[in-house]
Amino acid sequence: MLFGCFNSPVMIMVRDNLAHIQETIARSARKAGRNPREIKLVAVSKTVDIELIAEAVQAGQTLFGENYIQEAADKMTRLPPSLKWHFIGRLQSNKARQAAELFEVIETVDRWKVAAALDSHARLLGKTLSILLQVNIGREPQKSGVLPEAAETLLRKISGETSLRVFGLMTMPPYSPDPEQSRPLFSALRQLAEQLASRGLFADNAAVELSMGMSNDYAVAIEEGATLVRVGSALFGSRQV
Ligand SMILES: *Cc1c(COP(=O)(O)O)cnc(C)c1O
Repeated sequence: MLFGCFNSPVMIMVRDNLAHIQETIARSARKAGRNPREIKLVAVSKTVDIELIAEAVQAGQTLFGENYIQEAADKMTRLPPSLKWHFIGRLQSNKARQAAELFEVIETVDRWKVAAALDSHARLLGKTLSILLQVNIGREPQKSGVLPEAAETLLRKISGETSLRVFGLMTMPPYSPDPEQSRPLFSALRQLAEQLASRGLFADNAAVELSMGMSNDYAVAIEEGATLVRVGSALFGSRQV
């Protein structure tokens, strides 16, 4: 956005961007007849310098999303312990111990092996771990996520055989510069969640979370029911890597 337009502008930039995003969240919610308080902003801080993250904290942001375990671990030790962190990257089962330890929510569980590994580490830690199932709603071969028709079987197994608390679905539709292209996919994720909730398969079927929408399409995602939006570049500026 305004990244690089000023000399020492990081504080103003992050603060202004955050205010703008919060306004957009509120406007989109009202447009859809929803309460803006239903929607939580996950500030995606992957590859972002600690100083910029600290500015977001200064401006009141408390919830962050990270994609890489080691990077997140390093940042967490340097930031206030009161912050909440969601893991939104690809998770390998050999990183499950650290993920279970560091994060409040793992948004990207898409197979049994990872769920089982998270569960055994969470038990050892005595921690009730919340997760979302990642769904490959656009059916892209290269993308993570359980296919929509396989979501119910995976959810039943996780809810039945683990202590993980599955409280919703997450998706990342195919990238398009036109956010309207994502709308039918966001809508499809919501319908899938409603179907699964009607069968009583989530930890809280009256308050199912939908993590969908990124910098270019979070307004549309909110209109289609998102409760968590994962916004990176619109908050922190475009990533260098
Ligand atoms: C990087 C990332 C985001 C944020 O993307 P922006 O377009 O920068 O907002 C959101 N979700 C996931 C899973 C990501 O990896």
